[in-house]
Amino acid sequence: MERSQCEALDRADPLAPLRQRFRVPQGVIYLDGNSLGALPADVPGRIAQVVEQEWGEGLITSWNRAGWVDAPRRTGARIAPLIGAQADEVIATDGVTINLFKLVAGALRLLPERRVIVTELDNFPTDLYVLQAACDWLGGEHTVRRVARKELESAIDRDVALVALSHVDYRSSELLDLPGLTRSARDVGALSLWDVSHSAGVLPVELGAAGVDLAVGCGYKYLNGGPGAPAFVYLKRELAERFRQPIEGWFGHADPFAFELDYRPGPGVQRALSGTPNVLSLLALESALGVFEGVEIAAVRRKSVALGELFVSEVEANCGDSSLELASPRRGEARGSHVSFHHEHGYAIVQALIARGVIGDFRPPDLLRFGFGPLYLRYTDVWDAARALADVLATGDWDRPEYHRRAAVT
Ligand SMILES: *Cc1c(COP(=O)(O)O)cnc(C)c1O
Repeated sequence: MERSQCEALDRADPLAPLRQRFRVPQGVIYLDGNSLGALPADVPGRIAQVVEQEWGEGLITSWNRAGWVDAPRRTGARIAPLIGAQADEVIATDGVTINLFKLVAGALRLLPERRVIVTELDNFPTDLYVLQAACDWLGGEHTVRRVARKELESAIDRDVALVALSHVDYRSSELLDLPGLTRSARDVGALSLWDVSHSAGVLPVELGAAGVDLAVGCGYKYLNGGPGAPAFVYLKRELAERFRQPIEGWFGHADPFAFELDYRPGPGVQRALSGTPNVLSLLALESALGVFEGVEIAAVRRKSVALGELFVSEVEANCGDSSLELASPRRGEARGSHVSFHHEHGYAIVQALIARGVIGDFRPPDLLRFGFGPLYLRYTDVWDAARALADVLATGDWDRPEYHRRAAVT
């Protein structure tokens, strides 16, 4: 494709104006919104206001007057339409890892006669660690049945209490069959828990329609909530009143400021809260979610698929004789919003790209990952990024010693 064709696509792009709602640095093509979303333009002003006025002037009265106390619920309600949930089924709190533990432990308690959790052999590591930790800490009677993706269906039998999976593979970007696997869980009487960290905010996630029981997701990826933003918890309404979690603290209590000596769970998903929210991070996330107002997720998905397809075809057309190999499903509809390639020198190549202002990331053993945030990326960005990659490979520029030095975060 010619660059001018991408310029035409940008002019015709109904989502193009949303780029103005972000601060994307000059000279940077940001292909890592799947790890840390870009900064929405409203957030710095909002955070300054929170710090200077709400904290500085309002002090503790801001819990009431500025509505801090209600921010987990309000933020959850803003996330809900992005994941096909009702406003009162979602709450923003803690991190994905912490919430996973709470939900796994709570789910196992709901089906005490069952002893098996089914997950994927190479699910996201934190998810695997938490599943195992929950089993170990809950008396050691549960086991994690880790199976290959193709064997998931057959592994879901009547011993299974919980099917816990990630919607999008963080390496290959392959999209799992959320409705189908949720149905398989329900058919044997098991609960389903989905980690939608890599799908919330970038593709339609239909938790309600699929009948998903529990879900967690990330605030700092496609929701653009900022580094370490709170995560969210989804609890199906029908299940919420029976659900209990292991870190029952005062913010999950039905009446936190009654200071009762015994715990009474709050209504619905409020009981997924534990302690005092991280107000600064939470209000940054709440503000960031403003960019989704009036945005149709189906349109975001269409652009995400188109950007991914453009990148794959341009990379393959221009890096033909390198040993770059597509590690993602070729069909855009079968992927999340990132595309990965194998290359033996993947780490160094990514560093050389970053030095040129094209920011992707690397995942072991050999994956170059490029994420497409459709709210702030242009077709021309994707075209330019593919050319930069071709140039890094053709010139051998990646082989400089500094690009081989591994940093703590890859
Ligand atoms: C990003 C991500 C996480 C991150 O968990 P944190 O607790 O925020 O560090 C967990 N699971 C999946 C599938 C992810 O993509």
